[in-house]
Amino acid sequence: AAMREERIEKTKTVCTYCGVGCTFDVWTKDRKILKVQPQKDSPANGISTCVKGKFGWDYVNSEERITRPLIRKEDHFAEVEWEEALDFIAKRFQEISAEHGPDALGFISSSKATNEESYLMQKLARQVIGTNNVDNCSRYCQAPATKGLFRTVGHGGDSGSIDDIAQADMVIVIGSNTAESHPVIASRIKRSHKLFGQKLYVFDLRKHEMAQRADRFFRPKSGTDLVWLSAVTKYIIDQGWENREFIDKWVNNFAEYKKSLEKFTLAYAEELTGISQADLKEIAQEIVRVDKLAICWAMGVTQHTLGSDTSTAISNLLLITGNYMRNGTGAYPLRGHNNVQGCSDFGSMPDFFPGYEKVTDDAVRERYEKAWNTEIPREPGKDNHEMIRAIHDGELHSLYVLGEDTGVVDANINYVTNAFEKLDFFIVQDLFLTKTAEYADVILPAVPSLEKEGTFTNTERRIQRLYQALDPVGDAKPDWQIITLIAKEMGYDWNYSHPSEIMDEAAKLASLFRGVSYDRLTGYSSLQWPVLQDGTDTPLLYVDGFPFEDNKAQLYPLDFNYDYDTDEEYDLHVNNGRVLEHFHEGNMTYKSAGLTHELPNAFVEISHELAKDRGVEEGAKVKLISREGEVKVSVHITDRVQGKELYLPLNDNGKSAINYLTNNKVDKDSNTPAYKEVAAKMVVLQRK
Ligand code: SF4
Repeated sequence: AAMREERIEKTKTVCTYCGVGCTFDVWTKDRKILKVQPQKDSPANGISTCVKGKFGWDYVNSEERITRPLIRKEDHFAEVEWEEALDFIAKRFQEISAEHGPDALGFISSSKATNEESYLMQKLARQVIGTNNVDNCSRYCQAPATKGLFRTVGHGGDSGSIDDIAQADMVIVIGSNTAESHPVIASRIKRSHKLFGQKLYVFDLRKHEMAQRADRFFRPKSGTDLVWLSAVTKYIIDQGWENREFIDKWVNNFAEYKKSLEKFTLAYAEELTGISQADLKEIAQEIVRVDKLAICWAMGVTQHTLGSDTSTAISNLLLITGNYMRNGTGAYPLRGHNNVQGCSDFGSMPDFFPGYEKVTDDAVRERYEKAWNTEIPREPGKDNHEMIRAIHDGELHSLYVLGEDTGVVDANINYVTNAFEKLDFFIVQDLFLTKTAEYADVILPAVPSLEKEGTFTNTERRIQRLYQALDPVGDAKPDWQIITLIAKEMGYDWNYSHPSEIMDEAAKLASLFRGVSYDRLTGYSSLQWPVLQDGTDTPLLYVDGFPFEDNKAQLYPLDFNYDYDTDEEYDLHVNNGRVLEHFHEGNMTYKSAGLTHELPNAFVEISHELAKDRGVEEGAKVKLISREGEVKVSVHITDRVQGKELYLPLNDNGKSAINYLTNNKVDKDSNTPAYKEVAAKMVVLQRK
């Protein structure tokens, strides 16, 4: 018994699912995961976790893990030694770069990778290859929120902590299925709402759990959040209810912004959104009545052609009402993946170095050129969306995708997988043989979070360490080691022996992380960026003003021009999102037997009205056909959706992904796919 006891180990880790960033001890014996135990000093979650963090770990022991490097040999993948794979990669990178130039190569990093790995991916692209063609999957979700915040308040992150959301007098949730997508944040809101009288207003197409609990629930027409937000802001200004003192002291551009609001009358907003003028007035009254307002939003806002502008409208409203710079106030784009925040923070972006310093800024670029002894192009590189297009256009010949099932998660997957087929060279680095990997020339076996060290940054800018609980399986390696080996094969000996050295390098180069070190992140300690040299961190992001020249925030004028996707033929609007038990494309959670049992088949939620109109019953089989593709699903009739709104979970184990239906429309300012703007028609295959 003593022997057995000795082999039981307890390791602190950070959840690898959503952006809440729950931390806990994972108890293991050999490779068996015995239990997950949150600690009261877990900064983001205290003693809570959700079902995914608690039970979603079976995938690490899945038989389907890739354990050896694989190289495509005619019609199959052959297992090879690392040496052969690395040699092949270096040779192909060099050949393609010599023939077409460095900008013919592209790099896509993963928000499941650590901060250190994101840092290395951009370093590989910029130093070793000499291109800024590097991006990450925040392009698929939160890039518009980052854009909207950059324009107005200067930093692309939550303006406070999860605690601040809990402390607010009023929380507005827009386009976020918080209870299923960010369960632990939802619990905090539910608690404040129930026990402390926090007001909760929810705006969504779908009556999800938070909507059911809300004091008021509104269903603005798809894509029109910008309109009600701007109309409410205009009404507040027209009534003279704006926070004059705050605006005079901290905000620029009031006059020009006010002028841009002219068209957003209550009548216009009522017509476009469907929210009545009386309700719009009431929303405005409630917002100015409370002292502290926090607004949370997610993909329902960002995955639209006006995603950046709508995020901007949220920030404008907060500025007008003085809801920044105090605890319990602010803007909270809820980050999806565990490290979607950190992946962008650490520079896997075509236009930014780590810490959001522009590649077009000569002084910044010179700093990196000096540190890395190289030349870096002054023009921003291509983002994910542009890379796929560039493959079709014959400009991009090589793609290296790390931990991302691009062929499932990107919009319009027929278009994306056709691009993969045109590539001269394609590397996929992952845990499993994903759909994307099927198109690869080389597949490299990576390891999950439990098998490596590093840091993740959660939605509240909190950097937290994960420790290694298990040994890598087979020949699999952490992403940071694989990227380092590729660089070495290309003649760049980075010589890192531990991820802490990568963080030290990033901290030296990027002022946002100046005081970050592994020593300061020991155990359950954490740091919220920006972190000063002396280790002081920043729970409340804006304390002494905003990071613009005169310390003032900027109101950003907006317009509204929107192409509706539905027409007479494609008459249904397909909304989509997560369900509690599964995560995104499901590559991890579908490997977990318990969770698959909870949701074996995909379904589409349709309204009672539509069911009656089309003569279908619960469980009927239908085909949804968009202008791009089609999927077969079964019908679930519910009052969560209404009219001609449909709701489709993101994925059914690769079979009926929403992205067969999505198209090439993107947010005009960030190129994030407009996943939520899909029109479809429905063909009934079986009535019940
Ligand atoms: Fe993991 Fe998010 Fe659940 Fe926390 S709330 S356990 S971070 S999935």
